[in-house]
Amino acid sequence: QPLDELIASLTVDIPDHPEPGVLFRDLTPVFADGPAFGRMVRGLAAPAVSDPRVAAVAGGADDPGYDVVVGVEARGFLLAAAVAYHRGVGVVPVRKAGKLPRERIAADYSLEYGTATLELHADSIRPGARVLVVDDVLATGGTLGATVGLVEQLGGVVTAVSVVVELVALAGRERLSPHTVHALWTA
Ligand code: 5GP
Repeated sequence: QPLDELIASLTVDIPDHPEPGVLFRDLTPVFADGPAFGRMVRGLAAPAVSDPRVAAVAGGADDPGYDVVVGVEARGFLLAAAVAYHRGVGVVPVRKAGKLPRERIAADYSLEYGTATLELHADSIRPGARVLVVDDVLATGGTLGATVGLVEQLGGVVTAVSVVVELVALAGRERLSPHTVHALWTA
């Protein structure tokens, strides 16, 4: 079964969550399924070999094209750690405001109502490091746009943004341009 069909078949749609009018895609059943989780993690890890623009930055067959994986709180943590372990690189968390204990940088971004803040430890990305950014869902791109901005503020080079689901109607891909978005399923 193609991976996008497998993910689609295991995802549960929740109407009007967390607020009226929003169709929430609950991916937790995909995470809970062993074979699906494994394929999903390998898929997220693979933009360096599947996208020619990204392959151009990879140094060789054993080089995934990134030196570190950045995961976005909270569901992105589950994925980013598995991707990092799979490829033998480290994982760095981007967290909601007030969670990281040491010197940090912050980025505000807009939500449908109001704003939110994401933070990154100031010493967590070495200048020039190649970074794969991972999250579960690309919706408007506000979250991942802020995350990419934090990584670049520290001198990181974003190899690609990998997500399980891209909600195409919300045009997050345009917001992340010119970065490569690697989505396992477009819904
Ligand atoms: P954005 O900032 O792109 O509008 O929203 C993306 C963020 O909100 C991601 O961190 C994602 O986890 C969460 N999100 C937005 N819509 C959904 C959804 O339908 N399902 C899930 N699981 N997360 C969502």
